[in-house]
Amino acid sequence: MSGGGKLLTDAPLAPYTWLRVGGPADRLFLPNTEAELSAFLADMPADEPLSVIGIGSNLLVRDGGIRGTVIRLGSGFGTIEVEGCRVRAGAAALDASVAKAAGRAGITGLEFYRGIPGSIGGALRMNAGAYGGETKDVLVEATVLDRRGNRHLMTAEEMGFSYRRSSLPPDWIVVSAVFEGQEGDPARIEARMADIMAKREATQPIKSRTGGSTFKNPDPSRSEGRSSWQLIDAIGARGRVVGDAQMSDLHANFMINRGAATAADLEALGEGIRRDVKDRFGVELEWEIKRVGDPQ
Ligand SMILES: Cc1cc2nc3c(=O)[nH]c(=O)nc-3n(C[C@H](O)[C@H](O)[C@H](O)COP(=O)(O)OP(=O)(O)OC[C@H]3O[C@@H](n4cnc5c(N)ncnc54)[C@H](O)[C@@H]3O)c2cc1C
Repeated sequence: MSGGGKLLTDAPLAPYTWLRVGGPADRLFLPNTEAELSAFLADMPADEPLSVIGIGSNLLVRDGGIRGTVIRLGSGFGTIEVEGCRVRAGAAALDASVAKAAGRAGITGLEFYRGIPGSIGGALRMNAGAYGGETKDVLVEATVLDRRGNRHLMTAEEMGFSYRRSSLPPDWIVVSAVFEGQEGDPARIEARMADIMAKREATQPIKSRTGGSTFKNPDPSRSEGRSSWQLIDAIGARGRVVGDAQMSDLHANFMINRGAATAADLEALGEGIRRDVKDRFGVELEWEIKRVGDPQ
């Protein structure tokens, strides 16, 4: 390996995820600069499986862990700079920090990031959004490395965004992004963010070990307008338990690890719900949580 960065072998991944489950990565690389990451990728054998994780707020790592190399960007990728109505953020910066920095600078349009507990890399991969705002609406361009370590500048259009997804190749890594909002009043932006946080605290188990929305909302034309939580409620699965995994009592579409759940418990809970919703309503729920790695 040339260049710097930290390389760990047989590295536990559960501590890096919100759900706190799952096995180890064969190799975990933690770069702190784009040059370290690029040099590492250029040296990596072409047949080595490669994946990337953010801060694991949308991730279910299976109990057998992840084969090959997993990349997690270090704090060197956490910078945030404001210029005019634009914000440039490293991919490890937290969505909430980007929203707050924009707010302080009087930039409106990025308030929705305040309540999304992920990193900017995860936001671009997932087209993260909430309360009427989405990544695709505010992204100007992203800097991305391909698996050979080559740098690409991609526009929002080139990211191929749709509901909770992008068409970025799975082994390409976002290293930074530029967002644009409009001029706004810092006090009003602050009030809007406080409102978003209050709504979340009232309706979501944000202090639990969770992965956010378990399933994407189905196309309303196929579900008679019902969202995922309404379908889960309708089959009586709010609060359903498998092992130590549970559908939240507070928000029927959030699954939580009550403490000792395995990834297999969580996945079985979700698959049981998919089956029951399909049987009762003919609607196929699609996982929003990314399930990665091998079963035990
Ligand atoms: C309490 C709670 C509330 C949530 N509310 C919302 C919400 O309102 N709206 C919403 O959209 N989401 C929500 N989420 C889900 C989650 O926060 C978002 O999907 C977030 O964007 C994931 O970011 P992450 O850094 O945690 O990514 P991870 O969960 O680590 O990874 C998610 C995906 O992103 C990819 N990825 C991560 N970093 C990079 C990178 N640098 N380059 C390329 N790919 C990368 C991973 O490979 C994986 O496919 C919520 C989650 C929780 C726990």
